[in-house]
Amino acid sequence: MILLDFTKSELINWVESVGFPKFRGSQLYDALINGKDENSKTNLPKDILIKVSELGIMQPIKIVQIQESKKEHNVKFLYKLNDGHLIEGMLMQYKFGNTLCVSTQVGCKMNCAFCASGLNGWLRNLSSGEILGQIVAVNSWLGGTAKERKITNVVLMGMGEPLDNYDNVVKFLKCATKESFEFSCRNISLSTCGITPKIEKLADEGLPVTLCISLHAPNDSIRKTIIPIARNYSIHAVLEAAKYYYTMTNRRIIIEYTVIKGVNDSFANAKELSELLANLPCHVNVIKLNEVKERGLKAPTQDACQQFVNTLNRFGISATTRRTLGDDIDGACGQLRNKVATNAEGGEKLSVASYKEVKQPKKSIKTNKVSDKNKKYFDKNKKSNTISKRHGGVSESKSNKNPKQRLHRQGR
Ligand code: SF4
Repeated sequence: MILLDFTKSELINWVESVGFPKFRGSQLYDALINGKDENSKTNLPKDILIKVSELGIMQPIKIVQIQESKKEHNVKFLYKLNDGHLIEGMLMQYKFGNTLCVSTQVGCKMNCAFCASGLNGWLRNLSSGEILGQIVAVNSWLGGTAKERKITNVVLMGMGEPLDNYDNVVKFLKCATKESFEFSCRNISLSTCGITPKIEKLADEGLPVTLCISLHAPNDSIRKTIIPIARNYSIHAVLEAAKYYYTMTNRRIIIEYTVIKGVNDSFANAKELSELLANLPCHVNVIKLNEVKERGLKAPTQDACQQFVNTLNRFGISATTRRTLGDDIDGACGQLRNKVATNAEGGEKLSVASYKEVKQPKKSIKTNKVSDKNKKYFDKNKKSNTISKRHGGVSESKSNKNPKQRLHRQGR
C-alpha cells in the first residue's frame, strides 16, 4: 500500500482507522508530501512513524541515478519503484522556472516509431501516488518543501501514455492541484498521442490542464507509420476531440510535431499541416527528433526545423521550434531506463541487487553535485552578463553566493 495514493482526507481516515488521532493524519500527509520517511525528523512521534511505515510505503520513488546535461541546465533522473521497476524523468530549467517531466506508466503500449519508452512494451501503470512521488522526490532533492516548492511546472510527457492510465492520472491531477502542491492547472501539461474518447472525458473533468497532442504528421497515412494508435483514431477524430477540449476548457491546444528527416519534414507536409490546423486554436511546437539508436530514424538539421516553422507561420499558424533537450543525457523518454534495465525487465522484476552497477547517489552529493555545476554556470554567466537573457532576467546579487539558492530563486 502506497500512502501517497491516498488523498488527504482518505489518509486522515486511514490514520484514525489504525488507532491514531485524526490530527496525526494531517501531520503525516505534510510529512509525506515533503519527502519524509520513517527515518526523518518530523512533528510525529517516532512510534507512529514506525507503525505507518510497517503498514504502508511512505515514499514510493527513490532516485537511483542522475545524469546532468553538459550543454544545458537539465537533469535526468532514473527512479526505482518499490517493486524494483525503473522509470525516469527530467528536470528542465526555463526562464519561467523549473519544469519536471513525469512518467505515468512503466513502459508504454503505444510503441511510437521515434520513442524509446515503447521499445520493451508496457509493464504496468503507475499509481497516483507514484506519479505524485516523482514531484515529491525531485522537489525534496532541490531543497524545496510542499509550501515553497521549487518545481513550478509539471509536464506529463515522460514514459507512458497518460490517458491510457486515466483514473490514476486524474486522481494525481486532483491531488496535485487541489491539495499537496496546489499547482495551478495552467502549470500542468498533459501530452497524449490522441486517445480521443479519453480526451473528451478529460475535457469534462473540470481540470483545465494544457493539452498537448502528439500529432507528428499532416495526414493519416504518414501518421500511421509513426504512431500505431493512429490506426484506431483518425487525425480528424483527434482534432475534433481537441476542439471539444478547447470549448470546455478555453485552453489553447499545443500540437507537438517531431520533425523526422525524409518522413514528415517537407514544404508540402508543412503546408498540409497548416491547412489541417487552420480552424483549431493552437500553437505548434516543432521538435527536432531526439534520435534513438534502436529506432533508426534520423533528425533533420536545426535549419530544416526552422524552415518548417517559417512555412507554418507563413500560412498563418502559430509555431515555434522547441529545443531538443538533453540529447547528451539520454534525453529521449525511455532511453536512460532502457540502458540500465534492458536485460533486467520484460516481465522479470529488477531486484535491488540488479543495481550494483548503478551509482547510488548519496544525499549530500546529489544536491551538491548540481549546485557546484550551477555555481560554475552562474559565475560564468555573471561575467558575460548573459544570465538575464537565458534565465528571465534573474540578476544575481553579491550577497547571494549560494548556488542552490540561486537555483531556487529561478524556480519561483
Ligand atoms: S511517445 Fe509517448 S505514447 Fe508514444 S511510445 Fe513514447 S511514451 Fe508512449
